[in-house]
Order: sequence, then C-alpha cells, then structure tokens
Amino acid sequence: MAEENAPMARPSVPEADAQIGVKHPVLAHGFVVLVDYMGNDAAIVQAARVSYGQGTKSLRDDRGLVRYLMRHRHTTPFEMVEFKFLVRLPIYVARQWIRHRTACLAEGSRVHLEVASPGAGPPPPSGPVPIESLWREAHGGTGLGGSLERSPNGLDLRLHHLDESAQRFDAVGLVDVYRNGVKPVVRMVLADGKSIECTPDHRFLFSDGWHSLREGAGVSMRPGTVRWDREAAPVAVNGAPDRIPTTGGAAVVRPRFVPIERFDYVGPRMTYDLEVAGPHHNFVANGIVTHNSVNEYSARYSIVPDEFALPGAAEIRTQSTRNRQSGDEPAPGPVAQRFREDLERISTEAYEAYTRALEAGVARETARIVLPVAYYTQWYWKINLHNLFHFLSLRLDPHAQEEIRRYSVELAKLARAVAPVAIEAFEEFQLEGISLSQREQQAVRALLSGDTPEGACRSAGLPLTREDGRPMTSGEGVEFLEKLERIRSTS
Ligand SMILES: Cc1cc2nc3c(=O)[nH]c(=O)nc-3n(C[C@H](O)[C@H](O)[C@H](O)COP(=O)(O)OP(=O)(O)OC[C@H]3O[C@@H](n4cnc5c(N)ncnc54)[C@H](O)[C@@H]3O)c2cc1C
Repeated sequence: MAEENAPMARPSVPEADAQIGVKHPVLAHGFVVLVDYMGNDAAIVQAARVSYGQGTKSLRDDRGLVRYLMRHRHTTPFEMVEFKFLVRLPIYVARQWIRHRTACLAEGSRVHLEVASPGAGPPPPSGPVPIESLWREAHGGTGLGGSLERSPNGLDLRLHHLDESAQRFDAVGLVDVYRNGVKPVVRMVLADGKSIECTPDHRFLFSDGWHSLREGAGVSMRPGTVRWDREAAPVAVNGAPDRIPTTGGAAVVRPRFVPIERFDYVGPRMTYDLEVAGPHHNFVANGIVTHNSVNEYSARYSIVPDEFALPGAAEIRTQSTRNRQSGDEPAPGPVAQRFREDLERISTEAYEAYTRALEAGVARETARIVLPVAYYTQWYWKINLHNLFHFLSLRLDPHAQEEIRRYSVELAKLARAVAPVAIEAFEEFQLEGISLSQREQQAVRALLSGDTPEGACRSAGLPLTREDGRPMTSGEGVEFLEKLERIRSTS
C-alpha cells in the first residue's frame, strides 16, 4: 500500500534525455531526431506487474519478465512506451513508411520542400523574433519545416551571428529550429543588463573560448537556487559598430566581452534551439553570442541548392532476378552514371518549375506535384514500442529497401536508449529469432536423422527445382536453406 501512495515521478532515462533533439543523419540530407518519449523498461515491467499483481522485484527479475513478455507475445505492456520522432526522408522512402498505420503523423507534416514561406503567404517575421515564433514558423504556422534559409520568393530568414574568423557580426541562414522539451533553466544576467534563459548545458562564447555554462561558469542548480563561479570569464555580446568603414561603406560590428553579474533560478520552461548554416555555428540571442548546439551535424546538413536524394554509384542497384521488389548488385558504372545524370537534371528542372509556380502564386499544395519522389519530406511520427517492434522487424529485414533500413537502424538506436532491456529481448526473440513452418520442422527432423539439406527439403515437400528440372531461385525450399545458412553463419 505504501508503494501505491508514494508520489509518482515521471520516468526518465539519462541516456535517452541526452538524445532529445539530436539529429542522427541518414542518407545525404535526411535525419531522425528523438523529440520526446514516455516510459522506459520500468514502465513495461510496472504495467505487466499490475496485471500479474506481483509487486516490486529485482532488476534481474525485471529483465526476465520483459523477456518472458516478448517470448509469449504479451505485447500490451510494451505499448506503455511511446516515442515522438522528427524524420526527414526522401518521398520515395516516405511512401513505404506510411504503410505502417499504427503510428501517428503530425498534422501539416506534408512538407515537401525547404522553403521559407509561400509567395502569397503572410509577411515573414522581421526584427527581434521570439524563438518560439520561429519554431512555429518552421514547424507549425506555415506548415513548413526544415531549412528556412532558402527562399524562392525573396523571403530571407537570416539571423545575426559572429563570423569567428573575421571577428565581426553578419547574417547567417537559419537551417532549422528545434523544440527540445521542458527543461529546468537558469537566467544569466550580464553586467550590461542583457539576460538570457537557457539550460546550464547551453554553450556561450567566453573570453577564453566556447564553454557550456556548467563548464565555463561552474553553473549547477537545485530547485530554487543556482551556484556559479564568480571568477568566470566574461561572455561575448553583440558589439557596437567600430566606425571603421569597410569597402562597402558599412561599419564593422565587433564582439565585446561583458562580465556575468548573476544567475537566477527560473525553473522548468519549454526550450528551443536553432541550427544555422556553417562554418560558424553560433547566433545572437538577446544580444548574447550563443552556440548552435547541433553543430556536430550541421556541416552534413549544410543546405545545397536542391535537396533531393542522389544515390552514390554503389547505391544504384540492378534489378534482382530472385526478388521482383528489390535491387541486387551495384549497376555497371556507365548505367549508374547515366541514371545519376538523369536524376540530377530532372530534379533540378522540377525544382525550378516548383519555385516558378510559387513565385507566380500557385498554391503550395498544387506546386509541389511537379516534384519527383527523390525530394525530401519531413514529419513528426509518434509510435509506441510494440508497434515500433513491428515496424523494425519488417524494415530492418534484409528484404526491405536499403534506404528505409538505414532509417530503421537509427530508430532502433534511439529506442535502445529509452528501453534497452526491451530492445535486447526484441532482437533476441523477434529480429534474430527464426520461425519454422510445419514442413520446415519436418525437414529439420530429417536433418537430425542424417539427411542432407536438399534431401531434407525433398522429404518434407519443400520444392527446390521446377517441373522442368531447373533450380528454383525463390520459394519455400530456398527460404528454408537460407534459414539454415543464417543459423550456420551466425553460430
Ligand atoms: C519488404 C517489404 C516489401 C513490401 N512490398 C510491398 C508491395 O509490393 N506492395 C505493397 O502494397 N506493399 C508492400 N509492402 C508493405 C506491406 O504490405 C505492409 O503494408 C507494410 O509492411 C505495413 O505492415 P502492417 O500492415 O503489418 O503494419 P501496420 O499498418 O503498422 O499494422 C500493424 C498491424 O496492425 C494490424 N492492422 C493495422 N491496420 C489494420 C487494418 N486496417 N486491418 C487489419 N489489420 C490491421 C495488422 O495486424 C498489422 O500487421 C512491403 C513491405 C515490406 C516490409
């Protein structure tokens, strides 16, 4: 009873929390981001124990219980874990993905291009803009997401930032805006009155280099209080024009360093982050130079004029002779080369037609239909762990197309951060498990009695040859031999 009356805390997993908002690159311009999650391994166990009425058990028992649930297909407890992902993917991959109906896609998620605003749309924000407005602009307001720096109709969402090589401020393209969830934040107040609210892990430009507030100013916090190092180095802010005219006649604005006056505890707030184009991954917020915390990946996402999937030569495969749905070996060089040239030409032309249509006032929903499926789209995707297992078992399978398998690998990694025990059980019993039909079991019995694999197939009625005597390239017999090979090669 004492346990039932104990206050409930939201389950969280530090490894998973560290992944929130982090871009995991897939293909040339795609990514998977864990936006949020609910539940963990303990939530699965908790749900199962409610139905079994067994009370709290040891960690070892928990693992045993999760494995039991997986083996016996007692799936409901796995539905206690939910994920929300942001995914950018080529439309041709999205078409396969969307066949999985047990997930939920966000409204307005049919974002086909990296444009800032429609020609006839509302005026863009200018001047000081709250970061949440930018996020809405990127992910809600206009229904557009992804890079905001490209603008077919002259709209240019650019941010103030510090060119660290030239030590001067100028404008930089905004690539994306992330909402990172509710986190405890502090307010840093500088001696000149500028202030900013952020998590202690956010990085700023101190006079001795880039540091998080934790590293650079020794910030640590408990509810209600913030401790910090009063000897901390000063922090870079947007400077004043230095009155030295450049060739273009404008004054150069240099950074200034201002001492930190104090930190206030603010408490839980919705947090956001921006990604700006490289090479200097910073932007000015509230007059203070702050780091773009997703910089590790942004170089890979630096925006090219057309973001369509252009497969590398090795990724252009010949049609499989065994499986009508898939590719086989890499195509011969000249064939791959010609295909790449055609794809590049057609995609570029299509993009030009798209922007021309937007500029002429054609609605986005109509203009986009000229785009080939190689273009990227982006969506929020929410799914529970049970259904994710189903998705992964189909899309990590060697029969699934290579591109969607690459996304599945990233989804599985993020799911492992949230519920490692459940993922381990899934891998063992579902992903790497092999099921045997009645006839296949009959063939195994023949094998155990000393028959050859081919003889075992024949005696179990698993065909390996056609009526005309030619060997079969697919079918039950071939698949049984493949299963045997899998067991042999992994043992
Ligand atoms: C390698 C591979 C090749 C494929 N090739 C093709 C192809 O050539 N052509 C093609 O059209 N598709 C193809 N697909 C897509 C495939 O047919 C499924 O549509 C897709 O894998 C989604 O599976 P699902 O319906 O089980 O998943 P979900 O939609 O996530 O459903 C999960 C489970 O929920 C239940 N369920 C959900 N909705 C319903 C419903 N309305 N009625 C009944 N039960 C429901 C089912 O038990 C289902 O298995 C392919 C998939 C793979 C992995």
